[in-house]
Amino acid sequence: MSISEQLFARAQRTIPGGVNSPVRAFSSVGGTPVFIDHADGAYMFDVDGKRYIDYIGSWGPMLLGHNHPNIRQAVIDAAEKGLSFGAPCAAEVDMAEMVTKLVPSMEMVRMVSSGTEATMSAIRLARGYTNRNTIVKFEGCYHGHADSLLVKAGSGALTLGVPNSPGVPADFAKYTLTCEFNNLAQLKQTFENHGDDIACIIVEPVAGNMNCIPPAQGFLQGLRQLCDQYGAVLIFDEVMTGFRVALGGAQAFYDVKPDLTTLGKIIGGGMPVGAFGGKREIMHHIAPLGPVYQAGTLSGNPIAMAAGLASLTELSKPGVYEALTEKTRVLVSGIAAAAKKHGVPLATNQVGAMFGLFFTTEANVSNFAQATQCDIAAFNRFFHLMLQQGVYLAPSAYEAGFISLAHSDADIAHTIAAAEQSFAAL
Ligand code: PMP
Repeated sequence: MSISEQLFARAQRTIPGGVNSPVRAFSSVGGTPVFIDHADGAYMFDVDGKRYIDYIGSWGPMLLGHNHPNIRQAVIDAAEKGLSFGAPCAAEVDMAEMVTKLVPSMEMVRMVSSGTEATMSAIRLARGYTNRNTIVKFEGCYHGHADSLLVKAGSGALTLGVPNSPGVPADFAKYTLTCEFNNLAQLKQTFENHGDDIACIIVEPVAGNMNCIPPAQGFLQGLRQLCDQYGAVLIFDEVMTGFRVALGGAQAFYDVKPDLTTLGKIIGGGMPVGAFGGKREIMHHIAPLGPVYQAGTLSGNPIAMAAGLASLTELSKPGVYEALTEKTRVLVSGIAAAAKKHGVPLATNQVGAMFGLFFTTEANVSNFAQATQCDIAAFNRFFHLMLQQGVYLAPSAYEAGFISLAHSDADIAHTIAAAEQSFAAL
């Protein structure tokens, strides 16, 4: 029995499913999750001493690679001064100034401790601001696990086959309307029917929780236009895309300005952080300035702010996003060529430093229906063949892939070679 197997057996006795977040459990791909001992650069090392090239990056945050020296040092320095104050500190002001500079649609920002908190708070704010109850989301998009968002959700909810979670009262779920991602006609119809009740649209501007699906030409612009027409708040959930597809997020990449933005993952550099912010006029409704309540014991935590600030400082250096995009392009085109060589039907998507691999005969995957019609069994076999060869992909066909600045040409070449072996074996 490997050490991972021993730990997993122990873990299952006291932790539901042996994990603290469902998709880590390998439920879809089968087998035992690997327990990680430490991570450095592009690599994670499991408790049995095996090295993996990591394409999950802690589900997004590790855009600079693991254990980056500047982030580590910033955390150590901050820790010397105390772990939490529950009172304002300078790093929070630095962070707010940095975020509002990098993402100009965010005129004001509030820090929280997870992406879930960020989206939950942004929706409450949109409802409080508009005095309306209904929200619109898209099928297969995941925005964290707040009640009103676990309706036709993506990510682990989709992987485990529970896109509509029990425990969410029907009276609550009825305020969540769901449309097809990239289907503007359907959305227009929804607004024609319910426009006066719609507080907000929340969208992943590049969907990353039903694998990776970019917005169709004009889709995000269409959302902007409908929100303007009906007085609804447009929320871009950039928890995944923020600082990943571009320094200014997907809103910079596609040049569409939301009213509110939610952030997470990279903004914490690996510490538990989220943020929501946007138009000053809307943010003025948040307590203590306004009546919409939102709070957090550990919000703006000094260690988390230090890690996040160090990350954003590194990412602001010239050439970072060009390098990330090029690495991703080489990886994805190499894997696509390897699949073609071995006659394995594969479609790919890429936006900046995120990508998707789809086992399908479709040339382009641009919606939820196509994403869920892919050959999951083929993906699952591919996943294990890659894992055996030391390449760590997300253990679900419904997750986007993430690269980091630490992935070297050699790492990428190794990954493409492993993919070729895997395609040959499929
Ligand atoms: N929004 C998006 C787009 C996400 O991808 C995620 C997490 N993967 C969340 C929100 C929730 O973030 P967290 O897991 O930090 O609560």
